Amino acid sequence: MEVGEKFEVKKGMNLFEYTGHLHIHSTFSDGKGSMSHIVAAARQAGLDFIGITDHNTLAARDEGWEGRHDGVLVIVGMEVNHRKNHYVAFDVTEPVPPDDENPGNVIAAVNAQGGFGYMAHPVEKGNPAFLDGCCYPWDRWELNDYSGLEIWNFGSLWRGSYRRLWQALFWYYADPYRAARFPEPEGLALWDRLSRERPVSAFVGSDAHAMTLGRGLLKVTFFPYRFLFTTLNVHILLPAALESDFSTARSQILGALRKGQFFCCSDYLQPGNGFRFSALNEEDGEVGMGGQIPHTPGTVLRVVSPSPRSIIRIIKNGRLAYQNRQKTLAFKVLKPGTFRVEIYLRTLFGPDLPWIYSNPIYVTDSGLRGRYCLSAHCGSPEPSP
Ligand SMILES: [Zn+2]
Ligand SMILES: [Zn+2]
Repeated sequence: MEVGEKFEVKKGMNLFEYTGHLHIHSTFSDGKGSMSHIVAAARQAGLDFIGITDHNTLAARDEGWEGRHDGVLVIVGMEVNHRKNHYVAFDVTEPVPPDDENPGNVIAAVNAQGGFGYMAHPVEKGNPAFLDGCCYPWDRWELNDYSGLEIWNFGSLWRGSYRRLWQALFWYYADPYRAARFPEPEGLALWDRLSRERPVSAFVGSDAHAMTLGRGLLKVTFFPYRFLFTTLNVHILLPAALESDFSTARSQILGALRKGQFFCCSDYLQPGNGFRFSALNEEDGEVGMGGQIPHTPGTVLRVVSPSPRSIIRIIKNGRLAYQNRQKTLAFKVLKPGTFRVEIYLRTLFGPDLPWIYSNPIYVTDSGLRGRYCLSAHCGSPEPSP
């Protein structure tokens, strides 16, 4: 195991942080909430932006909902495919035709429009108590050219956790977050495997549908949007504040998502605002999440957690390289690799709970300086021939 030395943490880049919730369904597909209801819920939850991803449609955009509403920036993407291989796409101009059997065609169609996307709930399991055991995982692992994958999906975890309806109902009222406390280990392992080869970012979401049961006065809404918007969120980090012009702000948000310049957080445990992860050395300066930096003997990872109850975990190439109870950390990088950070929160009586998942920083071989871009995804200069 590689163990870095600890250094004093110096003040890092000054960044602007915005919180959003991705992977949301409205009445334009099978969600139960209207767009006005969803926007109101987002505003009440204190979100800066939301990503609407209805199944196989951009209707929310066509009906004029993309824009700034009550201070919430609404960006409309879509979730493509039906029975499996769901792909969440953003920044597309036309509806992307589904192709369950060949999702590579979906990815290519999204990229051809200049968009980008994520594999949604790739390792979903489902269970017999819901939808007759139906689930919608991925089964095509040889593909690439996507931006990332969803590592933590509140709805998937809840549906997959309880074998009996009474259990689901009991825990819904006793502890609605219980099923979603831990992301699927298989999803994390998949992400680590993929991100060793090229930049692959992770996102989280609730797959919000606000399902209802019963009628009239007996109608119950499970996991209302307002609740879900306080659970698994993304926090983007920008070098400048969001512009007041919507089109520019939209580009700023989508640019950060496209490049992995964000972290995933269970704001349900505690709002994660203030988390920072960067890498720096004298020759190349400082880069944030999603960035690449050539390795030098002086390369250091810098981690700042917003909570004194933190356990900082450095994951290098999918393996735990360092773990300790601390709020800040400077970690000397001894060799190149793909580095990401997990923050767990210590609890009084229960297990330590995962709270924050950073997107990776790619520390490359120093011989690749100036031509270390791994793909067009990262936005760095193209490789030299
Ligand atoms: Zn889906
Ligand atoms: Zn969905």
